Amino acid sequence: MLRTTALPALLALVLAGGALLAQQATTDPALLQKAKAIHERILTVDTHVDIGGNNYATPALDPGGPTSLKCDLPKMKAGGLDAVFLAAYVGQRPDLTQAGFKAAYDQAIAKFDAIDRLTKTHPELCELARTPADVERIEKTGKRVILVGVENGYPMGDNLANLKTFYDRGTRYMTLVHGSHNQLADSSGPAEPMHNGLSELGKKTVAEMNRLGVMVDTSHASAKVFWDAIALSKAPIIASHSGCMAVSKHNRNLDDDQLKALAKNGGVIQIVALASYLKEDSPERAQAMLKLREELGLGGRGGGRGPGAGGPPAGGQAPPQLTPEQQAERQKQMALRQERMKEIDAKYPPATLKEFVDHIDHAVKVAGIDHVGVGTDFDGGGGVPGFNDHSEALNVTVELVRRGYNEEQIRKIWGGNLMRVWRQVNKVAGK
Ligand SMILES: [Zn+2]
Repeated sequence: MLRTTALPALLALVLAGGALLAQQATTDPALLQKAKAIHERILTVDTHVDIGGNNYATPALDPGGPTSLKCDLPKMKAGGLDAVFLAAYVGQRPDLTQAGFKAAYDQAIAKFDAIDRLTKTHPELCELARTPADVERIEKTGKRVILVGVENGYPMGDNLANLKTFYDRGTRYMTLVHGSHNQLADSSGPAEPMHNGLSELGKKTVAEMNRLGVMVDTSHASAKVFWDAIALSKAPIIASHSGCMAVSKHNRNLDDDQLKALAKNGGVIQIVALASYLKEDSPERAQAMLKLREELGLGGRGGGRGPGAGGPPAGGQAPPQLTPEQQAERQKQMALRQERMKEIDAKYPPATLKEFVDHIDHAVKVAGIDHVGVGTDFDGGGGVPGFNDHSEALNVTVELVRRGYNEEQIRKIWGGNLMRVWRQVNKVAGK
């Protein structure tokens, strides 16, 4: 659903410069009008947005008003984005012990509490949905629909009963794993597997998720885990925020065999808007970034994260404790890096809305129109020029219309497919 405030977003797009924007600026006004009308009529769902730290939904960071976040309630309304899955994300630590599980569990509960604060502080602006029928009812009221997903099965520990607690707190999907291996599954990150797919506990977890009605999410999982989940799950599975390997070779993306299997399974890939998954860095860009890191004495992963990078680190490891002086120094370095990255982005452009929709096109071509959706990873590294926050969601529909997608197809991509999968998952759970 789109409100009249979407126009500034379009204007911002036109003003922001670049090849795509020139193309949009010259877009036929009739096409824009058509896209806007479709966008208003359909349900729009984003399946993956991270939330900040413990100050999320407190006066210090209130998504009920304007914030620096890519997803807040005013931006959603401005861009006609109806529903969002907020991720209770927990970074992976190496200790797969009871102490580690307990700390991770507490972090997950703190995230659920933060999402509750949002819906309880702004009941006139948003509401938590627990069922597909809730989503439709809330969307009709004009309020934003808030949904919950868990990113990383680590906080479940070795106790399947915790899944029921997560479900009761609103969780309707869970990624089995994140950037490193955990007790349930191998991650796509490390080269060497730990379990060679799902662990025994991971297999039991899939069965319990099927029983409860929690969508099994294989984003961040290794290819073997994906195939194990396809074979084991009695309900369709999802990838809540992933791209296509054939378009951009990244270990987080799905190859064509996986896309075809997902279609056969009845599931859905929700295309991610994270620049480094959407477009491989040219050797020149990679070199320039390496040089910059060396110059600034910054260690760690090069990443190639686009201009929208932010939020929790993609690797999922918590940073070591720094003294206030070290923190200040680090912040100074990061600010300098951000400035210098702008020069690199200008010289060697990262992915844009065009590449994001290229991934949608490819997934539609290989898996079919019934198996593709949108999962941005905003506030977790997602965001590309043209679709850098929720106020720009209409631009996606404009680009889809420009490429010849009709209303029914766009409705499926923007949430219809995900809702179908969710209903099927509920059916398998007897709900
Ligand atoms: Zn993620």
